[in-house]
Amino acid sequence: MKLDLSPQSWGRVIVSTVAGTALCVAVALFVDSFNFADMDQAARLRAIATDVFVPIILAVPLLLFFTGKLRELAIAHQQLTLYASTDSLTQVMNRAAFSTLVDAYLSSVREHEETARGALLIIDADNFKSVNDRYGHDRGDEALRLIAQTIKGALRGPDIVGRIGGEEFGVFLPGSDMQQAASVAERIRVAVSSAEFNPSGEQRQLTVSVGGASFDRCIPFTELYRVADQRLYAAKDQGRNRSLVAPATVYATAA
Ligand code: GH3
Ligand code: MG
Ligand code: MG
Repeated sequence: MKLDLSPQSWGRVIVSTVAGTALCVAVALFVDSFNFADMDQAARLRAIATDVFVPIILAVPLLLFFTGKLRELAIAHQQLTLYASTDSLTQVMNRAAFSTLVDAYLSSVREHEETARGALLIIDADNFKSVNDRYGHDRGDEALRLIAQTIKGALRGPDIVGRIGGEEFGVFLPGSDMQQAASVAERIRVAVSSAEFNPSGEQRQLTVSVGGASFDRCIPFTELYRVADQRLYAAKDQGRNRSLVAPATVYATAA
């Protein structure tokens, strides 16, 4: 079993305390060793015992206290980072965190061209204003949470999802080709359209339109986004509740 030594772990507290105490004992013994020559056997044993026990008695509680505080700070920092990157309504990533991650992925593939494959989907709830108008803003919020959960449920481990606008979500599919991206887009569309949404006791179907852009060589985020957005508008134009995915590189040059 691997020992967890992350800044949030008790493992780090214990290892730091043991190592710090051992260092204090070693320093005390080293400094005192210059006096050992002048001592008889009994005095030397007493000095060694003092050099070992005094640092242990002082250092262990002090180091436990300070490394314990550092652990609490690390946990608080981790939680703050999570809050700062999470959308409070839907609990998926917020726009800033999503764009930063996708941008970082696209920059990294620039250095390793052969892995440069993936896709961006933009998912926009259809006629969402009418959901709010008919059932109220709170039920609208509920619908957004349901859409976010449904999108998450349709994805694999490495895929990421973020809320990039009011009723708009982004999905990034690292490593996917156009066919795979199109099938994920369709899976999301179908899953949302069959999700159970019962505001005020009546079933109301929610639908989304999905625009997607795939890439198979390095491409800037703004360009990928532009093509996905263009496909989203085409899906809306064609009547909503549909998904359209295209290779960004083709559209980028054709646009
Ligand atoms: P379209 O199919 O063209 O996308 O139509 P739409 O009505 O979804 O689009 P429009 O841009 O006209 O309206 C978006 C609506 O989304 C209006 C706005 O009140 C609602 N909305 C945005 N953010 C939130 C939110 O956080 N909660 C709720 N309840 N509604 C939101
Ligand atoms: Mg909409
Ligand atoms: Mg919108």
